[in-house]
Amino acid sequence: MNSVVLLVDDDPTIRLLAAEALSGVELAVVEAEDGNAALSLFDRHQPDLVISDVQMPHTDGHVLCRTLRLIPHGTDVPILMMTGSETPEAIDAAFAAGATDFIAKPLNYPILVRRAQLLLRSRQALAALHRSRLHLDRAQRIGKLAYWEWSVDSGDLYLSDILWERLGNEPKPLVASDEAALVTQLGQFIAPYHRELAALRLADALRRRSRFEFRHDALLDDQPSRTIDHVGEVLVNPLTKQIRICGLLHDVTDQLERESTIFRLANNDPLTGLPNRNYLKDHLEHYLATARRQNRSLAMAALNLDHFQRINDSLGYTAGNALIRQVADRLCEAVRRSDWVLRIEQQLAPESHDPAIDHLAHLGGDAFVVLLTELERDQDAAVAIQRMQEALRQPFAVGDQQIVLTASMGISLFPADAQDVETLFEHSDTALHHAKQQGRDRYQYYAESMNAQARERLALEAGLPIALEQRQFQVHYQPKVDTQTGRTMGMEALIRWLKPETGMVPPNVFIPIAERCGLIVPIGEWILATACHQSQAWQQTTQRDLKVAVNLSVRQFRDPGLLEAVERALGESGLHPASLELEITESILMEDATRTQEILRALKQLGVSIALDDFGTGYSSLSYLTRFPIDTLKIDRSFILHLNHDTRSAAIVEGIIQLSHSLGLHVVAEGVEHEAERQFLAERNCNAIQGYLFSPPLPADGFTSWLDEENRRCGRQETSKRDGDP
Ligand code: C2E
Ligand code: MG
Ligand code: MG
Repeated sequence: MNSVVLLVDDDPTIRLLAAEALSGVELAVVEAEDGNAALSLFDRHQPDLVISDVQMPHTDGHVLCRTLRLIPHGTDVPILMMTGSETPEAIDAAFAAGATDFIAKPLNYPILVRRAQLLLRSRQALAALHRSRLHLDRAQRIGKLAYWEWSVDSGDLYLSDILWERLGNEPKPLVASDEAALVTQLGQFIAPYHRELAALRLADALRRRSRFEFRHDALLDDQPSRTIDHVGEVLVNPLTKQIRICGLLHDVTDQLERESTIFRLANNDPLTGLPNRNYLKDHLEHYLATARRQNRSLAMAALNLDHFQRINDSLGYTAGNALIRQVADRLCEAVRRSDWVLRIEQQLAPESHDPAIDHLAHLGGDAFVVLLTELERDQDAAVAIQRMQEALRQPFAVGDQQIVLTASMGISLFPADAQDVETLFEHSDTALHHAKQQGRDRYQYYAESMNAQARERLALEAGLPIALEQRQFQVHYQPKVDTQTGRTMGMEALIRWLKPETGMVPPNVFIPIAERCGLIVPIGEWILATACHQSQAWQQTTQRDLKVAVNLSVRQFRDPGLLEAVERALGESGLHPASLELEITESILMEDATRTQEILRALKQLGVSIALDDFGTGYSSLSYLTRFPIDTLKIDRSFILHLNHDTRSAAIVEGIIQLSHSLGLHVVAEGVEHEAERQFLAERNCNAIQGYLFSPPLPADGFTSWLDEENRRCGRQETSKRDGDP
């Protein structure tokens, strides 16, 4: 688009010639014959350049010039004055009125055109500069950047507009005599307590002619302190050797807050606010390095609440979470107290060292990790651990419920047990696992032997799916003998794992592993199906009513597919439900009583019967016997074992039998190995006996032979009775 020139002169000839010359270089010319006309045309056309005569009727050139400088678009438009005289006074008067340049009359038109072009170009350059300053200003505002520049030689200090604004002042010329004065001029942008540091950094940069970079606080507008990243450099003019230093202040407060939120989310457990595994792992390397350097020990303890799942099951997850938070608080409290104990005890009795529990992390669920970094001796870890366990022993209140919790802990030591973070974690877990197996509510130091056990456990866990697939399992059957008739009335199905590499693995070893990894469910279904098929086959070949008992583990019992699996096993084998008994343990009755009752009732509705296995080893609450639909009670082997030399065991067995009978329950004694035991039980009307006295668990063909043998024996007895034998 062409630039517009407003040409003002009362002489039409000059206007004509000037307009002609200007149009020749593609300028659009608007003409006015005096100042008044010029003002109204100016408003309408907003020209890029005004060329005006000085002497005109009505409003002369000076008045026009002054008036233009007062109206919005007129402040920065270039004005070229055509003066009649070239005296210094005339020129000064023109500039005083606000002119940008002047040209003498009579006019040299080609020169007038060049002048006009020059003015227009510099106006464009100025406009571009202005725009770029605006952009810079906007960019600085967006980037929260402020800029200053100081000339060492003159002392002149320039501050960017944002700096002035944030300091709450109007821009004015500033001078600073040295770095300290410069820092003072930056006012609250550098908090008073950081000014000395700032002056030192600037002086240092000037001395080395180098970049500088440091972080400090700013205390602006009574706001909370803001964090500023301050960077800059020293500029040396290669010609004059003059030195300037400039700085850029970047407000990073919001960025740091965002970063710290992200850090918190990544490194803290949201439920308890405690550091999480991630954080612990990141920092452990550092602690190990320090411990290594200082030749110190360090202990990691894995903490797990005992039977926490029961709380979630019975009170719900919200209450469970509330409890976890309280546990975290208690543990934190124990941590803090330990610092205090540490100090006092070190003064009083340096030999009994109570180490600081300096790190507590929550790994989620009911699992915590405690780190003890100031161990004098390895055994000192136990002191701190016991205190944490003690801290949890006071009952917790959730709603109006009082809850008693215990915790198990496993400790592994650096450098005694582990040299690196991963192994430290692994070993404390292994030790924890042992503490749980030893009966919970205790702590356990890691031992090398546990690792071998853990490896074995892992190998078994890996072998289980293969065993299922490659049919390495077998079901053995142990006869249950009727005490009165001496004849087999049923059998217990007991699983066997013939592992090709290692031989027989006892069920006590692999059932808990299958239980933990969930494989017990498919394995259990297989046992059910196999036992039902086999029993149905024996029913048909022997024409005898033999009841088979199949063990159910906790996980199997809680599995939603249990009922269907039982129905399927019965349906597919054709076994009558009355010929199937399911053995459960007391621990099943203890958890979630309502649900247990529902499942038991549903099983009973199918027509199968229920036996309570290992009675006497768990809580052995007699109220279970009335509350749950149980048909048979199996007295645990541990009582039978001591029957003949411990009067207490004898009294208990006698009591259990009497009670069971009064409740209409069938009683079976397990683990009967001696005739004297059999006699004791028979005299007290125990209904059935199972044990090595008669037979160990037998493979299916062995059990078939057992039945055949019994048939022959009884056949002979029948015959001899008929024949009148004594
Ligand atoms: P349980 O159900 O109490 O089974 C009785 C255990 O006592 C069997 O051990 C049996 O062999 C053993 N036993 C029987 N009579 C005597 C005796 O006179 N003396 C001695 N010392 N022991 C005797 P087993 O077969 O090793 O099974 C151990 C446990 O493993 C079982 O205890 C049961 O809890 C579990 N189990 C076995 N098979 C299965 C199964 O198929 N499913 C499930 N869920 N658990 C099973
Ligand atoms: Mg059993
Ligand atoms: Mg048992």
